[in-house]
Amino acid sequence: MVFDLDMIKTVYANMPSKIENARKLLNRPMTLTEKILYSHLSEAIPGTPFERGKSYVDFNPDRVAMQDATAQMALLQFMQAGRPKVAVPSTVHCDHLIQAETGATADLAKALDKNKEVFNFLSSVSNKYGIGFWKPGAGIIHQVILENYAFPGGLMIGTDSHTVNAGGLGMVAIGVGGADACDVMAGLVWELKFPRVIGVKLTGKLNGWTSAKDIILKVAGILTVKGGTDAIVEYFGEGADSLSCTGKGTICNMGAEIGATTSIFGYDDKMGEYLRGTSRAAVADLADGVRSSLRADDDVYANPSKYFDQVVEINLDELEPHINGPFTPDLAWPLSKFAAAVKENGWPAQLEVGLIGSCTNSSYEDISRAASLAKQAVDKGLKAKSEFTITPGSELVRYTVERDGFLKIFEDMGGMVLANACGPCIGQWARHTTDPNRKNSIITSFNRNFAKRNDGNPNTHAFVASPEIVTALAIAGDLTFNPITDTLTNAKGEKVKLEEPSGLEMPPKGFAVEDAGYQAPAADGSNVNIAVSPTSDRLQLLDPFSAWEGIDLKGLRLLIKVKGKCTTDHISMAGPWLKYRGHLDNISNNMLIGALNIFNEKTDNVKNQLDGTYNAVPAVQRAYKAAHIGTIVVGDENYGEGSSREHAAMEPRFLGVRAILVKSFARIHETNLKKQGMLALTFANKEDYNKIQEDDTLEILGLTTFTPGVQLTTALNHSDGSREEFNVNHTYNENQIEWFKAGGALNIIRSQVGA
Ligand code: SF4
Repeated sequence: MVFDLDMIKTVYANMPSKIENARKLLNRPMTLTEKILYSHLSEAIPGTPFERGKSYVDFNPDRVAMQDATAQMALLQFMQAGRPKVAVPSTVHCDHLIQAETGATADLAKALDKNKEVFNFLSSVSNKYGIGFWKPGAGIIHQVILENYAFPGGLMIGTDSHTVNAGGLGMVAIGVGGADACDVMAGLVWELKFPRVIGVKLTGKLNGWTSAKDIILKVAGILTVKGGTDAIVEYFGEGADSLSCTGKGTICNMGAEIGATTSIFGYDDKMGEYLRGTSRAAVADLADGVRSSLRADDDVYANPSKYFDQVVEINLDELEPHINGPFTPDLAWPLSKFAAAVKENGWPAQLEVGLIGSCTNSSYEDISRAASLAKQAVDKGLKAKSEFTITPGSELVRYTVERDGFLKIFEDMGGMVLANACGPCIGQWARHTTDPNRKNSIITSFNRNFAKRNDGNPNTHAFVASPEIVTALAIAGDLTFNPITDTLTNAKGEKVKLEEPSGLEMPPKGFAVEDAGYQAPAADGSNVNIAVSPTSDRLQLLDPFSAWEGIDLKGLRLLIKVKGKCTTDHISMAGPWLKYRGHLDNISNNMLIGALNIFNEKTDNVKNQLDGTYNAVPAVQRAYKAAHIGTIVVGDENYGEGSSREHAAMEPRFLGVRAILVKSFARIHETNLKKQGMLALTFANKEDYNKIQEDDTLEILGLTTFTPGVQLTTALNHSDGSREEFNVNHTYNENQIEWFKAGGALNIIRSQVGA
């Protein structure tokens, strides 16, 4: 048993009474989202209801999940906390660093060699600190979580945007940055913007060619890529209860593409069946005992518009298969309209590659339904005209579908089975192409299809559909093929038609696996050594940041005054830099290289006040650091928007920037800066931004009496000898001021653990 049954027992023991208390507070029936969030408060239920859209630092997640790319910095930081073990059950999953090229065995061997030191590091940290470790080849994080850890009514955070997949098993599961994961593992409470709630009512029942994927493809078309922002999407209705648990997972998974905080289904018999089928009958029994806590109240389902901020209704009896794309997941085409859209828009009709699987769509049901089409193709004398790949989501599924003959059928049709890993879904794909400049089309059963996502090629038109539709179109080799109405010609010249796919939700012989790829942590990890070479360029152990020196900050030089948009990508670029995620010194060479310097309208070119030369931002900052001179970064509106990447806060801290002063912050970045012990300040009067000159020396005054709600002062010493002062705002509470004084939140935890 890899899951923590005692933890689940405790959650269920407390849930009904916590929900009753919240119900008294709200004085009305509750949505499922409200039930789960109010029952995961670290403190007693508050005196007034949470306001939707406002942030609260009060939640206690039950689990943390991390994938290999994002886990590196999260764990390096966690090691700073000084705890002997993680505070909540946590897992690491090695899935993002495996490149697809020639097939599962060879690709996995190559990845093991190339990423050896990262995998060894993750394995040894996991072993030491009580973290479950899923080895390379064990599977994709979200599929492994669904099969082993997700449970109805739970609250989980994960360092990956598709953590939301676990909503298929009734869990509020939310994607976060590494800093949040680190905090929760270290025992801190977790901050969440209390979401809006969107209800999606599903009536009728799926039939024929339509599958669960088509529901989310349709929802994406209705709500668009922004429609779910700051919202949790709750699915309900007879149609919801009739979907398999893994189908529900598919829908929640791709909820990330509408920007939703997460998506969720209420507990039902299908979830119970899945729990029992994946060796978790004990969890199903417990969930059955608190079933009413794991669904919204009846009146919410009867009168949804009274309780949800928005209600969408979809009749599954009438739903058509959909194909979404290219270049965005919300461009939704019903199958009957798609061929015309391909022609009208001049998209390449020849389909070069069909790819099924990924964390979104690789359940037993998905694979068995796609295999039913592949079998028909083989029996009717057809071979796939496109290249065709299959990415199993986990070793459990791979082993089971191989045992049941499905992988053999795909191979007979000309398909290639890839490693149980992300591969082409995240651009880890050495795609064979004769001409990368050729406009070309691919179709996947994945979730994202932005330009360059799968193969790095801007000329690739990527479409997203169900595994069944991907398989049918790959057999035809033609995007304009409609399997419901069209025929194909086989090797003998006969016209043949594909019948509706058929499959099974669960394997009749049960799931099986020889080696699932799990490494349990040591019972006592105190003697486990963490493997990091001092000469590594991908990993570097962190040293604690130093504490505040106890005096006002003076003599700060202006590093850069940023003009306009400055996202976390401008502050810490992705792409080739991602390989340094575990090496703070190396990745800091990308600090602010995307930000626009207002004084010369150039990126990555700022004045070094020490010698008057212009140079790259990291180089100039390193010169100040070498001279023991602190600096300040000045920014515009919504500074630090975008992904919650913690490197964007750690790099300036590491290189010696002391304060970030902006017109306004993106909330998560502001919090990340505070956690690292930085000063995150905003202009009280936004016009003061204009007063800052390129050669200024700055001061931050009032720190010795740093108090919540009381402004600080900034002084500018201009190069002509004049001086100006103005007030700046901050949002630090008492705790966060302590973080600043200690040099970072982790320094506080370490001192508490050590005390
Ligand atoms: S398979 Fe794709 S969506 Fe799923 S975790 Fe991997 S990269 Fe993310």
